[in-house]
Amino acid sequence: MTQFTDLGLAEPLLRALGAEGYTTPTPIQAQSIPLLLAGKDVLGLAQTGTGKTAAFALPLLQRMAENDKRAKPKSTRILVLTPTRELAVQVGESFRIYGKNYPRFRHCLIFGGVGMVPQIKTMAGGVDVLVATPGRLLDLMSQGAVRLDSVEALVLDEADRMLDMGFILPIRKIVAAVPSVRQTVLFSATMPEAIVGLANSVLHNAVRVEVAPVSSTAEKVDQRVMFVERDNKRTLLTELLSHASVERALIFTRTKHGANRVAEQLEKAGVSADAIHGNKSQNARQKALASFKDGTIKALVATDIAARGIDVDGITHVINFELPNEPESYVHRIGRTARAGASGIAVSLCDGDEVAYLRQIEKIIRQTVPVDEDHRFHAPHIARRTGGSAKPPQRAQRPAAITQAGKPASQRHTEQARPAHAHPAPRPARPGSSPQKGGFAGLPNAGNRAARGR
Ligand code: AMP
Repeated sequence: MTQFTDLGLAEPLLRALGAEGYTTPTPIQAQSIPLLLAGKDVLGLAQTGTGKTAAFALPLLQRMAENDKRAKPKSTRILVLTPTRELAVQVGESFRIYGKNYPRFRHCLIFGGVGMVPQIKTMAGGVDVLVATPGRLLDLMSQGAVRLDSVEALVLDEADRMLDMGFILPIRKIVAAVPSVRQTVLFSATMPEAIVGLANSVLHNAVRVEVAPVSSTAEKVDQRVMFVERDNKRTLLTELLSHASVERALIFTRTKHGANRVAEQLEKAGVSADAIHGNKSQNARQKALASFKDGTIKALVATDIAARGIDVDGITHVINFELPNEPESYVHRIGRTARAGASGIAVSLCDGDEVAYLRQIEKIIRQTVPVDEDHRFHAPHIARRTGGSAKPPQRAQRPAAITQAGKPASQRHTEQARPAHAHPAPRPARPGSSPQKGGFAGLPNAGNRAARGR
């Protein structure tokens, strides 16, 4: 197997990797590092969790050190653009770690939501690496605090997300301010038309590298969908989270307001939770993220954009409180629970209005998401780790799955709306069956209970 020592990396970088305990490059690193060391442009199709940051950070640091010159005042030699503040912080941290054995290495982070003055001060003397979100960077450029005319390498990280967030014009303005003779790297988790267009205009003779296509990420995650009426989602969510196998859950809503509401409701129901989204201050977001990482809170409720770049290991469950209207977001979401080769569980709570979204998702992941017919929530890998706390399902006693239990299958709007090929119809409720009896491993059938107004 390829080792970092086989890739032509310099000794200070190998030492930094050794200190992190990294010896074996990930596939995206093994492919990208030699190309970037040779000065090529790279178009990388990879998402967070594949090791893509080191794939560009290591070779760019090495090339910078090989051509040892000082950055000019207000300037940077390497510019990395990221869609979110969180990702900027993580990428900056990676550069700090990998660059720590270069004694004169300096880097700066630029993003909104915090004061400009420290950023302007850091940039005044010039830096080797600047990691920035597009909006604040343009602000500081227009104030004359940052110049990009001596950039040697440009990285567009998570380019698809930057475009989703409406950054295409800022990106074009920034690229126009960077010298045309440069090395360029573009990483993106997906490759829609707009990214192909951007890649064609910013890269020169780029080599394409690709890992973990969308469908294979989805394959690693144990996915379920639960059909539930909108009004019953909250009760169901609380019950799901109280299950012993849930150690750390990331919950997705479509809106910022929705994220706040869900977090508040969980707190009220006794589940430690916080929300993370773009309307929160940088401090509040970092605090929520830190509490999630150290286990102070069990559930973090996020919007798609805020969740990008969240690098938290050990997320046992991703719960889609609402399905995303962009199917690619589903893949990004569920990928949060399958980091670094781990597997995880993703549960989608789908109401009648969201069935069309589910169909789009199934198209792009080229799989049918199994219906959780009985609100089972077992987690084989977790059960093993925790000594088998999840009991096997008691099929005979279980009532029907969906929250409209009691109605004939033909009257369940969610099932009516499902494509005929998608899933077998859930079994109808057994007359007289009790939701409590049917509960599995401490998980009563919340949806059923809520549907009956209890
Ligand atoms: P990224 O995809 O860049 O967000 O990286 C995902 C995670 O994998 C980060 O926590 C990295 O520190 C970690 N990582 C990156 N490269 C390696 C490697 N070669 N071996 C083990 N972990 C790594």
